[in-house]
Amino acid sequence: MDPGDLMQVIEVRPRGYCHGVVSALKKVRDVLADPTYPRPIHILGQIVHNGHVTRAFEKQGIIHLQDKSKTQLELIESVFEGTVIFSAHGVAKAIVERAKARGLTVVNAVCKDVNRVHDLIRVRLDAGDQVFYIGHRNHPETEAIRSIDPSIVLIETTKDVMLPSDRYARKTIFVTNQTTLSMYDIEPILEVIRNRFENVVFDNEICQATTMRQEAVTRVEADLLIVVGDAKSSNTNQLAAIGMRQGIPSKRIQSLEELERKWLDDVAVVAVTSGASTPTRVTREVIMFLQAYDQNDPSTWNTESRLDFDTIV
Ligand code: SF4
Repeated sequence: MDPGDLMQVIEVRPRGYCHGVVSALKKVRDVLADPTYPRPIHILGQIVHNGHVTRAFEKQGIIHLQDKSKTQLELIESVFEGTVIFSAHGVAKAIVERAKARGLTVVNAVCKDVNRVHDLIRVRLDAGDQVFYIGHRNHPETEAIRSIDPSIVLIETTKDVMLPSDRYARKTIFVTNQTTLSMYDIEPILEVIRNRFENVVFDNEICQATTMRQEAVTRVEADLLIVVGDAKSSNTNQLAAIGMRQGIPSKRIQSLEELERKWLDDVAVVAVTSGASTPTRVTREVIMFLQAYDQNDPSTWNTESRLDFDTIV
């Protein structure tokens, strides 16, 4: 780059909020605005995996039920009044029923794409299939799926495929997956499963929103990819991993403050995308910073955010 040249900034599309997140956030806002919902209002876990969103709702009085040492059932047992909102990631029916039995008002913000996987797995279990679920342990979506039936086998890596007993060999093995994975993760696992078992049926449940965001990253040609999103967000991490696979140095940042200027040295073209739970304004601020950035002009170097995060939702 010649002195004075600005970087080319590619705004990757589609990026950011998916329909499941938009719908979940709207449900929370609707409950907040409606005084007929009993107070206090709780969310089991995080409504979506984004710390800015979580804190903004807390500022509006929402209580997040989060404690790694407790099960979801124990967390529900600790609530004595009010409303409980279940997140976009899904929740076991037993938890919803228990909340209702305790007299709590229940709002289910689960994404319809996640709901479909629950329904599909139930149908397969009823048919007598053995279900293998490829997903991340401790992710709420995975945990909700596992709570459907104890026979569901969680597969995180190819090593886990070696553990299931040979007694499964005579059954149909139905394999499906967490909605925010990528086929790069799934394919090697699927290959090992197919080599080990005879009757394997695979249903790819990576949701369309995730697929489209991942495909957009595979088309990027840039010196650097910035992915805006939370470290806990599975789909955000996948976007950065796919960027790296494309041979593009890829950095995940929660917001502008985490952007390090040294990453921009010798970068002529930078691409920006964001996870499905990242507020649009957070990504827009990063894009505007990069568009104005001039490595010779210190007045463009300030990565302090000017956003009011309290009102980000
Ligand atoms: S990433 Fe996919 S499954 Fe998850 S909330 Fe969005 S649309 Fe639903």
